[in-house]
Amino acid sequence: MQLHELTIREAGQLLRRGEISAVELTEALIDRIVAADNDVRAYLTLTPELARQQAEEADARLRQARQAGDGALSPLLGIPLAIKDVLCTAGIPTTCGSRMLESFVPPYDATVVARLKQAGAVLLGKTNTDEFAMGSSTENSAFFPTRNPWDLQRVPGGSSGGSAAAVAAGEALGALGTDTGGSVRQPAGLCGVVGLKPTYGRVSRYGLVAFASSLDQVGTMARSATDAALLLAAIAGHDPLDSTSAKLEVPDYVAALRGDLSGLRVGVPEEYFGPGTEPGVEGAVRAALEQLADLGARVEPVSLPHTEYALPVFYLIAPAEASANLARYDGIRYGHSVPSAELWELYKRTREEGFGAEVKRRIMLGTYVLSAGYYDAYYLKAQKVRTLIRQDFERAFERVDVLVAPTSPTVAFPIGARAGDPLQMYLSDVLTLSLNLAGLCGISVPCGFSQGLPVGMQVFGRAFDEATILRVAHAYEQVTPWHTCRPELITTPARPGEEPADGSEPAGRVQNEEE
Ligand code: GLN
Repeated sequence: MQLHELTIREAGQLLRRGEISAVELTEALIDRIVAADNDVRAYLTLTPELARQQAEEADARLRQARQAGDGALSPLLGIPLAIKDVLCTAGIPTTCGSRMLESFVPPYDATVVARLKQAGAVLLGKTNTDEFAMGSSTENSAFFPTRNPWDLQRVPGGSSGGSAAAVAAGEALGALGTDTGGSVRQPAGLCGVVGLKPTYGRVSRYGLVAFASSLDQVGTMARSATDAALLLAAIAGHDPLDSTSAKLEVPDYVAALRGDLSGLRVGVPEEYFGPGTEPGVEGAVRAALEQLADLGARVEPVSLPHTEYALPVFYLIAPAEASANLARYDGIRYGHSVPSAELWELYKRTREEGFGAEVKRRIMLGTYVLSAGYYDAYYLKAQKVRTLIRQDFERAFERVDVLVAPTSPTVAFPIGARAGDPLQMYLSDVLTLSLNLAGLCGISVPCGFSQGLPVGMQVFGRAFDEATILRVAHAYEQVTPWHTCRPELITTPARPGEEPADGSEPAGRVQNEEE
């Protein structure tokens, strides 16, 4: 096995035993990025110099600990990771996949980034995203679309498509993404990796560039439930800089990963197996449910009767919040600015040039539903239905411990197939949105293939019960091979940032070399 194919857990063991060094591991990942990323295009910015420096520091700490016989080292020490480009990184461009922030270099780290650094992780770069995380395919990036490593003609999902593709292609051992309506789970499902969306409030949003503040949550991408637990443990917990982060103890997620599921009650929401779900997807998830029963779980049908309203409710509330959050990009304070003689002209031209079509659509929709006369009819009504959706889950969780459903109704679709039809694109997240509206936690785990492409199974949990969904994912992985499958990537090697041989556009820019 090559170093870039290791899980975080495996790499950590080799590092602590001194069998590999963090520098060696980091160089292996950089080599892999050089070989693969002109095809996959997962990264917007690469930070090889920073990564090498962090790897050297990690090696020094590992050596000291070995000499002192100190076994209590962070499991992320020396582990190369990628960060979605909506999370602020001090001194490193943070573009949100938008022309508006193309030249924005934050003066501070998001709390999750600071916590990864504290844990000794190595940061490889920033990954591609739909503009301001609005989308389901990463095609809304202002820079270039990312491709699915399982089939380069298909999308990786979105909006955290860069992070999912990077982990699937071996261009990072793990990554952070964000999930407002499914953007960690859906791309994880379409790329065959494990994607965890924690409960709203479990992880700090400080330094996450806001899209829809009541829905946004930072999540993790990895190749196993154990790795997801290790990443979550590093980033979870109260943050005085985010008043919506919960003041709750963070349990030991790794200790929760026991093998069997005896006594666990699993609910299957009928509404998630509707006519829009591909037979190959449904078949893989139904087979997974049988495996869970074999592991000791009691599987029973449940109903979430307001599921059909999740999509319209989400597309009223998310744009409403986005229209308020994005008002700050006015060309005055930071980001793109088009100098003009008149102030209104400056606002108008800055936004015309700085925002892409989907972002403009959301701002207009959101402004409309918040305007006097329409607020009650749309926004307030949507908030009321949101409560009904949350109550559906509360009722279901009185009877069962977790819910299991497909992550996405289809496998990865071809690039361009839904780009011209916003409603088709919105439907890509029809099975993930409800969870964000209810503020609960969920994980997508690889559970098979359909048409040669990965299928994801989603496990929903109660608020702040990440430990149980991780336990289900881990137990399932112990009896199935799906999370160990890797795409056979046929690459055309070229240096990221340079023109590849086939003449297509170059991928991520390399920071630190010229800058
Ligand atoms: N696809 C949904 C949207 O476009 C959710 C995106 C997300 O979770 N960031 O808004």
